[in-house]
Amino acid sequence: MKSIVILTGAGISAESGLKTFRDSDGLWEGYDIAEVATPEAWQRNPALVQEFYNMRRKSVLEAKPNEAHYALAKLEDKFNVTIITQNIDDLHERAGSTNVVHLHGIITRSQSSINPNLTYPINGWEIKMDEVCELGSPLRAHVVWFGEAVPMIEKAAQICDGAEIFILVGSSLAVYPAAGLIDFVPRHTPKYIIDPKIPYLSDSSFIRIEEKASVGVPQLVNELLTDDLDS
Ligand code: NAD
Repeated sequence: MKSIVILTGAGISAESGLKTFRDSDGLWEGYDIAEVATPEAWQRNPALVQEFYNMRRKSVLEAKPNEAHYALAKLEDKFNVTIITQNIDDLHERAGSTNVVHLHGIITRSQSSINPNLTYPINGWEIKMDEVCELGSPLRAHVVWFGEAVPMIEKAAQICDGAEIFILVGSSLAVYPAAGLIDFVPRHTPKYIIDPKIPYLSDSSFIRIEEKASVGVPQLVNELLTDDLDS
């Protein structure tokens, strides 16, 4: 089976009701990211950071996958599919995708505040301030904050290097190192981008689908599944 690699960003979950950064003018749900999504913010005001991610988790649990998430899951019938997502929601998994790499973590798990390798499932939507990991340190959301290392980036780069078809959906390509992953995709691999406002791309070989994810992704997936039947 041919390998397809899909890199997704906040845009794929926009139609599920989860706001992107770009659409909120660099703020995230009204918050300055420096105040809620950095290690310094956690040092300064852990209760605010906890509350911010508890609210995000609540929204994620209330949201449902959309047509784009479901269409990507269908690709697994005919292709060897890996989704690399910058999103911290679990909508790809809930739509049925089985091979998802979460570059920036996943909000439905908690993480030890002194050892990022210790992660746990969360009961409900809330991490309480008095909950601790097995080492006795407070639990925080299992997400990568700005200024923290991205542990999955090397694995993700290797996956991109093996892509026989590459699809980018709903990312402004403004957050590094994730945005640099497109440079690892082999030159002759067919590449598609789906976004209603396509960001600047230095690689002109991308096939541009200027559509919302719920329209553009099912269209492309149908084409790919049909082409595969013909070949
Ligand atoms: P971004 O907010 O910087 O850019 C969003 C992109 O999605 C833009 O290019 C925009 O034109 C596009 N878009 C908007 N509506 C769309 C739609 N209906 N269909 C397709 N595309 C659409 O997002 P980013 O590049 O992913 O970077 C933001 C960072 O914020 C990520 O690292 C991610 O971890 C985090 N984030 C995650 C979530 C989530 O988990 N759902 C939500 C907000 C932010």
